[in-house]
Amino acid sequence: MFQVEAKPLGSYDVAVCGGGIAGVCAAVTAARQGAKVVLIEQSGMLGGTITLAGMGNLIDADNKGGIIQEMRDFLDARGMTWARRGDKVDKNGKVIPGNLLHGEGVKYFLDKICNDAGVTVLFHSMVCSAKHTEGHIHELLLCTMCGNFSLNAKVYVEATGNGALADLVGCKWDCGDPDEHRPSPVSMGSSSIGLPADYNGTDYEEDKTVYANKLEKHGITVSSQQGSIVKSPYGYWGTDFTMGYDVVPDNILHLSKVITEKRMEAFDVIEAHQQIPGFEKMKINSTNPQIGIREGRRIYGQYRISNEDILSGARFEDAVCLVTFHVDVHKLHAKDTIEQTRGYEMKPYHIPYRSMLPLGSDNMILAGRCISGDFYPFSSYRVIGNMAGVGEAAGYAAAICAKEGIKPSDVDGKQVSAYMKDYLKEPV
Ligand SMILES: Cc1cc2nc3c(=O)[nH]c(=O)nc-3n(C[C@H](O)[C@H](O)[C@H](O)COP(=O)(O)OP(=O)(O)OC[C@H]3O[C@@H](n4cnc5c(N)ncnc54)[C@H](O)[C@@H]3O)c2cc1C
Repeated sequence: MFQVEAKPLGSYDVAVCGGGIAGVCAAVTAARQGAKVVLIEQSGMLGGTITLAGMGNLIDADNKGGIIQEMRDFLDARGMTWARRGDKVDKNGKVIPGNLLHGEGVKYFLDKICNDAGVTVLFHSMVCSAKHTEGHIHELLLCTMCGNFSLNAKVYVEATGNGALADLVGCKWDCGDPDEHRPSPVSMGSSSIGLPADYNGTDYEEDKTVYANKLEKHGITVSSQQGSIVKSPYGYWGTDFTMGYDVVPDNILHLSKVITEKRMEAFDVIEAHQQIPGFEKMKINSTNPQIGIREGRRIYGQYRISNEDILSGARFEDAVCLVTFHVDVHKLHAKDTIEQTRGYEMKPYHIPYRSMLPLGSDNMILAGRCISGDFYPFSSYRVIGNMAGVGEAAGYAAAICAKEGIKPSDVDGKQVSAYMKDYLKEPV
């Protein structure tokens, strides 16, 4: 056992662990409700997968309001969103708004809303241990760039994406598909410059096939099978060629090996494009600071969103978000097919508040992709619009717990649902 000295950082109403979209939405919502909030983030920026792993394609947000709409309005007003398909600028050179988000705009917006709401943000601070009694958390240990610190809160929001806090207190989880326990793949995204100015990329499915054939003709193989090139109005193309397999949440050696391999693959594939006529000047601009991890621990909660729920379009009284995005599994190993839905044709369905209440802890709320659900539902609800909604619901419920001195499981799910009405709109 290590003996660790930790300086106390004080007491809060709500401690949010993880500053991805879910964590920020939770922290800001709780603070706007009057709670004293600390947001703990292991990296040096907010946004998680969106900013660290460069995955700024806003899915399942069109029927939603709340903070995700605030973010969209903020970015649209600055020409910092653009069209996913087709032209990116109009005849007058004005950016055509759309679902693609500029990472720097996202970072600024998230910093600003935390700052405006009075959230205490701790960067370069990893939650690495929790004092608890049978899952009831008393104190967190943070390993930070400035030494070790401890803090406590009335309620804790688990928004680490990978379910790190829930795991620290012994909550049960699983990861991967039901047959072989293979998790969704990871991807190291990149950006490139020097492509032909009139090349729009692989916006449509037909473009992807043409492009894959072109790569094959030149002997270039990519682990994702179908590479993706998306043009931005900022002079670079978002490029993504890689997928890494079998990356589970508790194997740091394999994760690290895959990061090395995939970053090198991104470089090699982009450089290899220089032999393709028209792409001679293509060069790598950057790889993302972090590999994109689609799936981590899915924690078991009071309710587990099931395959039946998504096939039947389940509705709940304690609904916090209406999911409209299809099942998007990707390849689970190198020789797999890229068939996305695997026969799970969903109908729009609700995420219930109970799926955010972990079994095994009475003062923690789950927010983000670690909520309780089976593999195929996870492969549909995990996208940005829904994770923002789950975050806001967690923040609202956490503020009630702090104000009323009650447990998350004693919060009235119908009250949370009423607050979340902007995330429950039927698609038009
Ligand atoms: C390759 C890839 C492509 C995707 N494509 C799309 C897409 O096109 N459209 C879409 O809408 N969605 C897409 N997604 C899904 C979506 O981006 C994510 O599911 C969503 O952003 C997850 O948000 P989150 O807040 O739950 O978790 P995360 O974004 O993972 O945030 C978790 C945060 O917690 C921090 N953290 C982790 N552990 C600790 C700790 N112990 N202490 C402190 N901090 C910690 C992390 O640094 C991170 O900032 C994609 C995901 C991936 C990986």
